[in-house]
Amino acid sequence: MTEDTWGRVCDELQKSVGKNNYLTWIAPLKVIEVNDGIAAFEAPTKFMRDWVQRNFAEAIQRELRKFGVVVERIDLRVSSVRPVAPAQSGYAANTVAANAPVPAGNAARATAARAKAAGHHEEELPGAPLDARFTFDTFVVGKPNELAHAAARRVAEAGPVTFNPLFLYGGVGLGKTHLMHAIAHELQTQRPDLRVLYLSAEQFMYRFVQALRERQIMDFKEMFRSVDVLMVDDVQFIAGKDSTQEEFFHTFNALVDQGKQIVISADRAPGEIKELEERIKSRLQCGLVVDLHPTDYELRLGILQTKTENYRAQYPGLVLADGVLEFLAHRISTNVRVLEGALTRLFAFASLVGREITLDLAQECLTDILRASDRKVTIEEIQRKVAEHYNVRLSDMIGPKRVRTIARPRQVAMYLAKHLTTRSLPDIGRRFGGRDHTTIMHGIRKIEELKNDDRQLAEDVDLLRRLLEN
Ligand code: ADP
Ligand code: MG
Repeated sequence: MTEDTWGRVCDELQKSVGKNNYLTWIAPLKVIEVNDGIAAFEAPTKFMRDWVQRNFAEAIQRELRKFGVVVERIDLRVSSVRPVAPAQSGYAANTVAANAPVPAGNAARATAARAKAAGHHEEELPGAPLDARFTFDTFVVGKPNELAHAAARRVAEAGPVTFNPLFLYGGVGLGKTHLMHAIAHELQTQRPDLRVLYLSAEQFMYRFVQALRERQIMDFKEMFRSVDVLMVDDVQFIAGKDSTQEEFFHTFNALVDQGKQIVISADRAPGEIKELEERIKSRLQCGLVVDLHPTDYELRLGILQTKTENYRAQYPGLVLADGVLEFLAHRISTNVRVLEGALTRLFAFASLVGREITLDLAQECLTDILRASDRKVTIEEIQRKVAEHYNVRLSDMIGPKRVRTIARPRQVAMYLAKHLTTRSLPDIGRRFGGRDHTTIMHGIRKIEELKNDDRQLAEDVDLLRRLLEN
């Protein structure tokens, strides 16, 4: 492969993985040879080699193919001579600061950051790739996510830290990762002087274990303590992993003490993460805890409309009949990822068969998705989940006991039965041991009332609802 071809591949890679990732991970690679269906590269360190292999090998292979270099795999080796410092190795360290335009007034800070970036451990800022589509511009705001969105915006302004951490939680596919990437994108353009690190909790652990193995734990600590904004996605992953938790806790505290912003996401509230140490739970609760609620009809429709705009450009000439988006927003209530998948498939299918997108076509091509979304929660399932959650017997759900510790969960189950099923009150009453419909109504009202003041109860109800809806 000629240098020129590799240069052009690099240009493409820069677009597909983002400039920051490109500079951090791909620019430092050296092409060794392309031979026998293998493209061999040299990476400056073992860590970089592994990271590139895990995160970028596929992208490199794909881009090579576009330029006629078809290989079966990418082989990454470690340079035999380790560069002493990034400056000498001839590649542009990791930093946004070193390369991005510097807004007026920030010049001094940027220079400082650049100087800092030349430090020896800075070559390996192990951020995960950012999805270029996950920006604030493409995030549709509605009632269920307006708080989370506003909080994310606030963090992205990088003003004085007012809440730390920002803890975003919610069910699968509700936009947690999207919002975190959006913060990172915004900071990269508005505040290139800041060191922003986004990664999943799994990657945090991977990095930690690797540092332990290679006896580079001091480097690890220093690196994580040198960032200005740390974002850790899906933190529930480290529950039960003791030494990773411990390290996370120390990193967290060190950054908070330095007044650095931390953003965390999880699939449930801090208190609900089992096998997470109490002291971590309580630290996580110290900042702002915001919940991404399940989508409602308006938000789903808004998202579908926005995405459709993009597809119109991609598939000019496709006709979308009235009512199709409304139908999808109504019928697919699981999560946004499924909703997007449905729309993608619908447009691809329609353009393949050259037909107008009608309700019939939607039903035909989305049968499986529609059927899965159709799954109705039963009252028995609700009772079982609620009993499990509150650690009471299933039989007590329908039995006569009136002690608060049993009556309250029972009322929660009644409330959920009303909201998640289409059963009538008398019908629900029958399934709760033959209770009268007025008793059911009373139970539902009680929970509605309590939810306003009792945060714990409100969280319980939301969590259960999510668990049951997924
Ligand atoms: P999570 O991390 O909460 O599981 P993601 O952030 O990965 O969910 O979101 C799943 C998909 O849904 C992504 O493609 C994302 O862009 C999209 N999505 C979620 N919420 C919104 C929203 N409010 N507006 C636009 N797209 C959204
Ligand atoms: Mg996610």
